[in-house]
Amino acid sequence: MSADKTTNTNKRILIIEDNESFMKMMRMRLKSAGYKVICANDGLSGLNLARQKKPDLIILDLMLPGMHGHQVCRMLKFDKQYAHIPVLIFTSRDMEKDAELAKSCRADAYVIKTINSAIVMEIIGDLIKRASTLQTNNR
Ligand code: MN
Repeated sequence: MSADKTTNTNKRILIIEDNESFMKMMRMRLKSAGYKVICANDGLSGLNLARQKKPDLIILDLMLPGMHGHQVCRMLKFDKQYAHIPVLIFTSRDMEKDAELAKSCRADAYVIKTINSAIVMEIIGDLIKRASTLQTNNR
C-alpha cells in the first residue's frame, strides 16, 4: 500500500455523511493520508458541493436526510460534467438491495462501514489514480 503523502496533497475528497462520528473518523484518516477533505451532512448540500468543487472522489452514505445517496449519485453519474468523479458508496447495512442500488446509480465502488480501514484507503487511492489516468487519456 502506498503511503506517499505528497501525491495526495492536491487531491480533494468530498464526504457526504450524516453520522457525525463516522464523518470525523473518515476526515481524520483522509487528512493524515494527505488528502484535502470537504464535508456535507445531507444529500442536497452534498450534491451542490460536488457540483461546485468537483472533488477528485466522493465518499457517499446512502441513508441521508434531504436526498437519498442513491439519488445524489445518479444526479452526478448521469451528468457528463460530473460522471468522471469516482463515487465510493459507504453504507452501514450489509444488504443485497444496497449493493444493487449502488450498481444502478453507477457508483464506482461499494463498501460496508465495518470494512478494514487500510483496505478502504487502498480502494480510495486506486479509484483516484484510475480516474486521473482516464482523464489524461481523454485529453
Ligand atoms: Mn446515514
